[in-house]
Amino acid sequence: MRTQMYIDGQWVDGITTMPVTDPSDGSVIAEVAVAGPEQCEAAVAAADRAAADWAKTAPRVRSEILRKAFEIMVAEADAIATIVSKENGKVLTDAKGEVLYAAEFFRWFAEEAVRVPGDFRKSPSGDKRILVTHQPIGVSLLITPWNFPAAMATRKIGPAIAAGCTMILKPASETPLTALAIVDIMERAGVPKGVINVILPQKVGESISKILHDPRVKNLSFTGSTEVGRVLIREAADRVIRCSMELGGNAPFVVFEDADIPAAVAGLMLAKMRNGGAACTAANRVYVQKSVADQFTKEFSQAMSQLKMGKGTDAGIQLGASVSIKERNKIAELVDAAVKAGGKLHTGGSTPEGAGAFYPATVISVDKSNDILNHEVFGPVAPIVTFDTDQEAIQLANSTDFGLISYVFTKDLARAIRTAEAIESGMVAINKGVISDPAAPFGGVKQSGLGREGGFDGIHEFLETKYIGVEI
Ligand code: NAP
Repeated sequence: MRTQMYIDGQWVDGITTMPVTDPSDGSVIAEVAVAGPEQCEAAVAAADRAAADWAKTAPRVRSEILRKAFEIMVAEADAIATIVSKENGKVLTDAKGEVLYAAEFFRWFAEEAVRVPGDFRKSPSGDKRILVTHQPIGVSLLITPWNFPAAMATRKIGPAIAAGCTMILKPASETPLTALAIVDIMERAGVPKGVINVILPQKVGESISKILHDPRVKNLSFTGSTEVGRVLIREAADRVIRCSMELGGNAPFVVFEDADIPAAVAGLMLAKMRNGGAACTAANRVYVQKSVADQFTKEFSQAMSQLKMGKGTDAGIQLGASVSIKERNKIAELVDAAVKAGGKLHTGGSTPEGAGAFYPATVISVDKSNDILNHEVFGPVAPIVTFDTDQEAIQLANSTDFGLISYVFTKDLARAIRTAEAIESGMVAINKGVISDPAAPFGGVKQSGLGREGGFDGIHEFLETKYIGVEI
């Protein structure tokens, strides 16, 4: 397990260390190196020194490094999944699923590295030729959250490498070990020194602000909460640097009366419970048409009540711990307030005794004005609201500042498309509980973010478009 930082092709110590804990029992699993101002400066300097040569590397070379990283990551998936599960608390099957999904970003961007499009046209007036090319944007700062410590890192490292950018990665303090393991893979896959640097700054806000005000840094790619995203957009504004923002969600899950109910229940189990509910894509507001609400709530509550909760790395466990006691307590407070405001619990709803950051799978029927619907519940809690008409379902689904993903269950294709078009979100899942795919553009509208990761769009977050006009 790597615990040092990686700067300019070297594993180095910092000014101190920081404990990483297993949230299922509070034990310390590692001490990782923490960066002071000197290491932060060294990381920026290394990325800057490597930038020009890296940008000139043949796309095929970058592609093959990514392909090799994909192969190593798949071969070592079990070991990396154990690290993910230990530091994050999620169950091993979710962790393994995440690692394989994360590796797919390397494979996808290995394929994209050699397919960056350009354009050559005669201008409409015929006075010149229009040449459009895409160039690496340069030194990029990548900041990732704790909930998908592997996939959120590779979703940024993959396109940055493919585009020819150098980078400084700053993982979440709760889950740095996974990022360090991935950087170790990149080193073995042949990434030249200085191209990837990973740091864990001691004073996060201050250090990241300094990096964003450094003229050598050209691009910011952030995944995390809308609250921190807003702060970083303001910081980036001072130098007008490019921002890609993958922020919070509060996904609606709409079940129409003509839906296949068992399929909708299975879909919600995935959309809500993947990662123990700690996903930006997690279904957080379940809207069910009145005529099927009782049946749906009963079947879904039954499925939720059967989940086995425990230490993520233990066999047979389906619901692991939250990442920390602090995060778990936030979930409990939201549920307590929802019950106080008239919510009716069907299963779960009480904090278990003991040291681990556990919270049980919880289903609660609430009124459409219940405040829990205004929060991104980052845990295993599903609030259910009933509705009468399609129009009301769309209005309720859109009644949030977020717009990352929405889920729609119906057997009527026209109704599904009408709803998908009317819903304000960057992604819509129809009759499916998970649609994340490295080959598809992932991202939100409204306060869920700016830009897209993955798909054909992802590489463009690391490329600058240049137009060259040629007199002929
Ligand atoms: P967070 O608190 O916003 O932290 C995300 C990252 O930002 C961490 O590395 C954190 O570092 C860093 N950070 C915190 N304050 C900062 C500051 N002032 N300046 C610079 N960096 C700062 O989010 P989280 O709790 O880790 O993750 C959960 C959130 O991420 C949820 O809202 C979820 O929806 C969102 N998310 C979105 C997507 C998406 O694709 N849209 C995917 C996954 C997660 P420290 O850990 O050191 O504080």
